[in-house]
Order: sequence, then structure tokens, then C-alpha cells
Amino acid sequence: MDFQLSDEEQLFQKSVHEILQAKLAPVSRQIDEKHEIPRSVLEEMANVGLLGVTIPDKYGGAGGNITMAALGAMEVGAADPSMATAVYYLLVTGWSHLTAKLGKEELKSSLLPKVASNKAFLGIATTEPGGGSDLVAMATNARKQGNKLILNGEKSYISGVTEAKKLGGGHLTLMKTDRELKHKGLTFAYVPINAKGIGTTVLHNMGRMGISTGILQYTDVEVPEENIIGDYNRGFFHAMLGFNYARTLVAAACVGATQWALDVGSEFIKKRTAFGSPLAKYEGISFEYADLAVQLEMTKNMVLKAASLLDAFDQGKSVPMKELNMAVAASKLTAPQLALDAVKKVMIWHGALSYTNETMLEMAMRGILSYVVGAEGALNIMRLILVREMLGPEYLPYR
Ligand SMILES: Cc1cc2nc3c(=O)[nH]c(=O)nc-3n(C[C@H](O)[C@H](O)[C@H](O)COP(=O)(O)OP(=O)(O)OC[C@H]3O[C@@H](n4cnc5c(N)ncnc54)[C@H](O)[C@@H]3O)c2cc1C
Repeated sequence: MDFQLSDEEQLFQKSVHEILQAKLAPVSRQIDEKHEIPRSVLEEMANVGLLGVTIPDKYGGAGGNITMAALGAMEVGAADPSMATAVYYLLVTGWSHLTAKLGKEELKSSLLPKVASNKAFLGIATTEPGGGSDLVAMATNARKQGNKLILNGEKSYISGVTEAKKLGGGHLTLMKTDRELKHKGLTFAYVPINAKGIGTTVLHNMGRMGISTGILQYTDVEVPEENIIGDYNRGFFHAMLGFNYARTLVAAACVGATQWALDVGSEFIKKRTAFGSPLAKYEGISFEYADLAVQLEMTKNMVLKAASLLDAFDQGKSVPMKELNMAVAASKLTAPQLALDAVKKVMIWHGALSYTNETMLEMAMRGILSYVVGAEGALNIMRLILVREMLGPEYLPYR
């Protein structure tokens, strides 16, 4: 067992760190206030190969693996703790990785080079107004007509609606294609946002303001069959694989945000004095710092384990799926809660100052909460995956 990153991975992380600290960190507050990630920052991220980090070279990407994508997510989460850029990055990275793996050649060659060069946004649309966790209950449906699918329904809380409309691109969309077959009757396909028959509404979020969230309404939208990811009626399984990539990257971004919070916190408690000593001398504070730092190290190791198992899976190696699913679910369960806990404790160390926007802690808290309440899968769904893998599927409540 090797707990060291390879030379290539260390070099990648160092160069990404330097670039993002120089270009992204200084505009983090601006992103939150102006509700937009500057195009120049996204272009810089594309130029250094970050937006196409896992896209194969032949489609204009950097040809890296999920471990490299996770290292990138840690750096993005640390440079923009509003989490807006992390969401943008992990959506395009995670879902283009699945597209590269399971998409048809026509789709890959037309879409992926645009995603890698930030000429198209790529996201995911599974959640509906009626619920997000219970995918089988979805109402959005598609029927076959010649070599097309005709899509009707509605998706909600979808990230990147405005970004895709402005830049081009769209969402990998889960649709019911056979009502009788439950989870074996869902299909996953790329639906460009500017396709005829799509209406959009933007929702007003409380955090991660630099990326939009909205509703997509589909009325007889024609989806060409070459846009289907993987196989017809196998969409549930393909989406679950994609969620394993995306959830690992969410967890990695939260590891980055936790590191950021601890850096801000340690700097503050060493400087701020009360009753004649720096706060760091008081065990009530320094022990909290020590506990958080240990939890961060453990969570980071779990996330890197999930990423490394996904890389082995991608390479066709024999991977115990139970271990892989558990590592991903444990990462997505733990990392957002740790990030929230760290930000909350660091706020309390700051006293009243933290309740103003003089620090970026309140902004980080609003952004991280999106991953605690649901984005890329609710925490209880991670617990259900762990129960399924550890106790057995017969102990799931809906069996
Ligand atoms: C900022 C933001 C951005 C998002 N972006 C996207 C996106 O781009 N694409 C997309 O498809 N979705 C997106 N989502 C939606 C997200 O994936 C869903 O919030 C998530 O899947 C949960 O679905 P839900 O919100 O409908 O909650 P529900 O599924 O209605 O669940 C509500 C609560 O009940 C709990 N719960 C549900 N079932 C069980 C059970 N069996 N046992 C115990 N507890 C249970 C859940 O943990 C949750 O706390 C986004 C969400 C947010 C907040």
C-alpha cells in the first residue's frame, strides 16, 4: 500500500495550487457578489487542462484520472470557498468523464473538445420537483420515434442552467423510457439546453452564487439516439457510476474547503489575543483545531482511496465493488459535514467578526450547505448505500 502521491500527481497539485491561488482566490468574494465566475478564470482553468482533466487527449483533454481530478477539486475548493467554481469544475469534469467512457463517438467528438476548452458547459439533470432521491419515481419520460427520443417532463434544482444557455452545452438527463421496468426502464442521454422545446427558470439560491440553479421544462424535445449514454434502459446504472465519480469530486472539494477554513482559523488564533494570550494557547480552541485537523486527514485519505478505487475500476482491474461504493458514500457523507463543522468552529473562534462579510466564512458556510442538504445525493442516501453494502439490501427500508 502506497500512501504517497506519485511525482506526477504532486507536480500536478502544486502547479494547480499556484495557478488557482493566483487567479481564482483573489476573485472568490467577487464571484459570490456578482453571481458569476469570471470567464477569464474559467479560460485559464481550461488552458491549464483543468476543465478537461479526465477527458482523453484525442478529445482535447489532459487524459488524467479521477485521482488527478480529485486533487484539482481540493485546490478549487480551497481557492474559492463559495464553492461555485468547485461545482462548475466537478460537474464538467465528473460528467464528461462518464461521457468519455460510455458516450457514442459522434457525441464525444462534438461535445468533449468544447467542454475541455470551456466552450460548452456539461451538467446533470436527474432531480424533479417531486423528489430527487427516489429516481425510479421520476415523471420525466421519453418515447422512441424513429432514431430519436421525444422527451417530456420537468427537472428542478439543476446546476448550470444560465451557464449552459450562455456558453452552450447541456445536461446528461435521466428519463423514464419504460414505465413497467422501474429502475431498469430509465435512459440517460445528453440534452443540449438550446434544443427546441426546452423552457428554463432560474431559482434564487442562498449560496454558491457564482453558478445558477434552475428548472428545465421539456415539451416534445427531440433527443437524437447518438446522445444516449451507454445503453437504452440502462440509464439508472450509468447514472450511478457517474454519481460515484461526481460524489468523490464533491467530497474532494469539501476537503479543500476544510483546509482553507483551518488555514484561516490557525492564522487567526495565533494572532488574536484575549486575557493576555493568543487564542491558540487556550485548549478549548487549540484542541478543537487538533481534532478538526485529524478529521481532515482521515477524510482526505478516504477521498483519495475512493478516487484510487475508481481509477483501478476504470483501468479494468478487479475492484471489490462493495469497497468502492462504501468509500464513495463515506466520502460524500463525511466531507461536506466536516467542512461545515470546520467553518462553523472557525467562525466561533473569530467571534463577532465572522458574522460580518469582513471574512469569507459566512460565504463558505452558505456554499458548503448545498452539499449537506443534497447536491449530488442527500446524506441519508449515502447512509442507505452504506447500509446496503454492510448489512445487505434486505435491510433497505423500501425493500
Ligand atoms: C444547490 C443545489 C444544486 C443541485 N444541483 C443539481 C443538479 O445539477 N442536478 C440534479 O439532478 N440535482 C441537483 N440538485 C438536487 C439534489 O441532487 C437533490 O437535492 C438530492 O438528490 C435530494 O433530492 P431532494 O432535494 O428532492 O430531496 P428528497 O429526495 O425529497 O429527500 C428529502 C430528505 O429526505 C431524506 N430521505 C429521502 N429518502 C430517504 C430514505 N429512504 N431514508 C431516510 N431519509 C431519506 C433525504 O436525505 C433528504 O434529507 C441540487 C441540489 C442543490 C441543493
